[in-house]
Amino acid sequence: MDKKELRAYIKGLKKQHTKEQLLDQSEKILAKLEQHPEFIKAEKVMLYSALPDEVQTQAFLEKWHLKKTIILPTVVGDDIIPVEYGKDTAFDVGDFNILEPQNEPYTGDFDLIVVPGVAFDRQGNRLGRGKGYYDRFLCQHMEVKRIGICFDFQCVDTIPTEPFDIRMDEIITL
Ligand code: ADP
Ligand code: MG
Repeated sequence: MDKKELRAYIKGLKKQHTKEQLLDQSEKILAKLEQHPEFIKAEKVMLYSALPDEVQTQAFLEKWHLKKTIILPTVVGDDIIPVEYGKDTAFDVGDFNILEPQNEPYTGDFDLIVVPGVAFDRQGNRLGRGKGYYDRFLCQHMEVKRIGICFDFQCVDTIPTEPFDIRMDEIITL
């Protein structure tokens, strides 16, 4: 399957799951992330506000932004601009239909970047939504540990890759 076919295939699998099943999986996957040594030791963590077909992070973000520096992506044109989720940060729906913190761009560094995806394989290859947002963002932060998180049906044997695709160091799934 090429990238486009794989996106369609995963979309079909997602439809076989209820919202409740996806929320239940999300809790279990994030419980694993919480216990991961890289997450435990990280002070500055880039996470994400989830779209309906991604591991749901809302409760996790609300919990952890009080204990670590949590940075979220905002989408500006073709770029991901990182913004901190501070204690009193307001949120608004951005161009990409995700909740974005309404703060100045975050200019500090990261200890860990947690990456959503349409699918991942065991080698850490990642398939996104087809716009290359994370490839462009991550290639500017290659020294930072990258963990992909996904539902069980998003974990496949092989992802077709191109030279600009940035691989994850690790995948956490159900
Ligand atoms: P996704 O990663 O969202 O699944 P693709 O891997 O298909 O999407 O990439 C989408 C597009 O993003 C590619 O056609 C490529 O031209 C562009 N792209 C990816 N990485 C870079 C980069 N580092 N610089 C410029 N363009 C990039
Ligand atoms: Mg890519």
